[in-house]
Amino acid sequence: MTRLDQIRAAEAKLLLHTYDRNPILFERGEGAYLIDENGAKYLDLLSGIGVNALGYAHPAIEKAIVEQSRKLIHVSNLFYHEGQAELAQRLADRTGMDRVFFANTGTEAWEGALKLARAHAGLLRSEGKQISTKFLAMEQSFHGRTFGSVSTTHKAKYREPFGPVVPGVEFVRFNDIADLQAKFSSDVCAILVEAIQGEGGVRPISQEFFAEARKLADSTGALLMVDEIQAGMGRTGKWCAYQQYGIQPDVTTLAKPLAGGIPLGAICCTEEAARAIHAGMHGTTFGGGPLACAVAIAVIDTLEKDRLLAHAAELGDYFMDQLRGLAKKHEAIIDVRGKGLMIGAELDSADLAKLTVAEMLKRHIVINCTSDTTLRFLPPYILDRTQVDTAIAALDEIFTEHAAAFAGAHNSQAAGGQKRG
Ligand SMILES: *Cc1c(COP(=O)(O)O)cnc(C)c1O
Repeated sequence: MTRLDQIRAAEAKLLLHTYDRNPILFERGEGAYLIDENGAKYLDLLSGIGVNALGYAHPAIEKAIVEQSRKLIHVSNLFYHEGQAELAQRLADRTGMDRVFFANTGTEAWEGALKLARAHAGLLRSEGKQISTKFLAMEQSFHGRTFGSVSTTHKAKYREPFGPVVPGVEFVRFNDIADLQAKFSSDVCAILVEAIQGEGGVRPISQEFFAEARKLADSTGALLMVDEIQAGMGRTGKWCAYQQYGIQPDVTTLAKPLAGGIPLGAICCTEEAARAIHAGMHGTTFGGGPLACAVAIAVIDTLEKDRLLAHAAELGDYFMDQLRGLAKKHEAIIDVRGKGLMIGAELDSADLAKLTVAEMLKRHIVINCTSDTTLRFLPPYILDRTQVDTAIAALDEIFTEHAAAFAGAHNSQAAGGQKRG
């Protein structure tokens, strides 16, 4: 039995069966590469799931972890430490927000944002405004796995086994302005969007729909809340994907790449939204601890020093151009979407998408497939052109070899993302 076989057998016996893992045992990483137990190198175009923005073994992250761990790893939120205000200032400046709350994960940040919206609507009611408690969430949305977050997540398989989920959520057809207008009323306390839907298939919100959501929210005092957990922190070439649209929400959430692999989430909001929260209403044991804050500060400062937002924008354009070139050659690629280094290539067959991920892995390139038919690329921002070229050449080879077998396979699975919703 190899070491990997032993671990697989032990996990199969001991863990809740929540994951179907790839049979690879990674031991370490270097830059944009993961290295397995046999020393084989894999080009990582997924970076965790959009987490390792600076790749692996980055000296700035190592330095922050070593230095901070010698001073203070945890101190609870009963006391001050140096990191929270310093990091909050950086986030406020870059998100265009006034105040920050630190959590540990994406779902916990989103969960807190939902509570904030309900509390804010309650405050407005106490001031005589007509506003109720309903959330308008989007079809194909993904906001996390805890009860509130999963209740605002569209895919039925994530919600239904756990029902009844949190009530008061209605789903709007994404980018359908008429549907949004029809479902919006003074019952709504918040409109919930991702500027680019991640798990939903790398689908950007439309300018018109986003602007209408802003306008409707303004008309009643409801909050416009943008989940930037996947798209934020520079991945699209701006700190937040909503900045691509020039639309400022009332609340945004950050997590995945925020502390370069150390768990950290954040709610960033306006002074108006923050009015609803008083001491004791919300909190966390671990959130915003000294270690996570020190690392997040190092990540932000490195992104800036190394001009990695501009790099993500420019390399993302190159990557998408190359994918569009492939789409001209291979009919199986029916759409290429995204912004910066958040990229999706939709295929006409779910089976081909699955096979492509496996074939890429055989060629030692890590990608994944989301929403059944969309190949998703969320590489570290330190990726370079040569590495993009390597991935494109591998995809070209795979489609040349295998796409014919799936040709015309506009099977029922091809629209699976929508179908299951
Ligand atoms: C990943 C993700 C979440 C959930 O984050 P976790 O850290 O896994 O809880 C929420 N929203 C979006 C858009 C995400 O991509």
